[in-house]
Amino acid sequence: SQNYPEWIWQNGQIKPWRDATAHVMSHALHYGSSVFEGIRSYETPDGAAIFRLTDHLKRLFLSAKIYDMELPYTMDELAAACRDVVKKNGLTAAYLRPVAYRGLGGFGLSAETPIDVAVASWPMGPYLGPEALQNGIDACVSSWQRFAPNTIPAGAKAGGNYLSGQLIAREARRLGFGEGIALASTGLLSEGAGENLFLVFDGALHTTPASASILTGITRHTLMTLAREEGIEVVERDMPREYLYLADEILMCGTAAEVTPIRAVDGKKIGSGKGGPITRRLQELYFGLFNGKTADRWGWLEPV
Ligand code: PMP
Repeated sequence: SQNYPEWIWQNGQIKPWRDATAHVMSHALHYGSSVFEGIRSYETPDGAAIFRLTDHLKRLFLSAKIYDMELPYTMDELAAACRDVVKKNGLTAAYLRPVAYRGLGGFGLSAETPIDVAVASWPMGPYLGPEALQNGIDACVSSWQRFAPNTIPAGAKAGGNYLSGQLIAREARRLGFGEGIALASTGLLSEGAGENLFLVFDGALHTTPASASILTGITRHTLMTLAREEGIEVVERDMPREYLYLADEILMCGTAAEVTPIRAVDGKKIGSGKGGPITRRLQELYFGLFNGKTADRWGWLEPV
């Protein structure tokens, strides 16, 4: 049912999609020992650009460092792989997925296996559905909490973390919601299954801190930067669950989800239920980076 792109990069080579296989006894398949990134490229007035490619690859290396995975390629080699796989597939606006994983070479938990690396790219529209960006989504608070600090590091983007994300996202979809929001082990707000959270109170943006078991997203950082430029106050802080019901506006953000308004949480309408003025302004500024209306003063658009 899936339409796969033609080409993929694996271990130093561009090859046909179907040839990029891994052994069933690969360490990562059993133990979740992979690290990965999710990146988007956009069509801009100056040509196709990969958004914050360098920052994503830096995070990949940091995730790998936490798990003692020494990647057999440099940042520059992986950046070239990302560009090549987009070009080779004839894509402009795409999603890119670099992944590094413990391959075949030992079954012990601390086995020193080879580290295999692949980069895929495929066309991708709005992650939370075609209407999500315009109309917003209905979210629920998950019955699953995020993993506690000093259990599984939330700051690493590792395959195993996404067992938590799957439980949260699958429960939300089963109950008919667009996405699930998780509480941290403290009972305070954490983040969405695959998105960071922003709440608006009295014109200021409030987002959960790293200590709330979040992945500190690159989109989160982008929005914080754009908001501060606009003179919008940004606060990183712990928040209790009920703030979800009291906020003037809520948005979720991530590379895949981009900037998605939250219409309601647990059936309670947020503000007007249509996405408020701060959310709309942040959407304009964010998508403005790709349509030329927001000047890229940070070198975030890296040409394909
Ligand atoms: N939290 C989680 C759990 C995620 O998987 C993602 C998506 N990578 C994010 C937040 C948002 O991160 P980013 O903006 O870097 O895509």
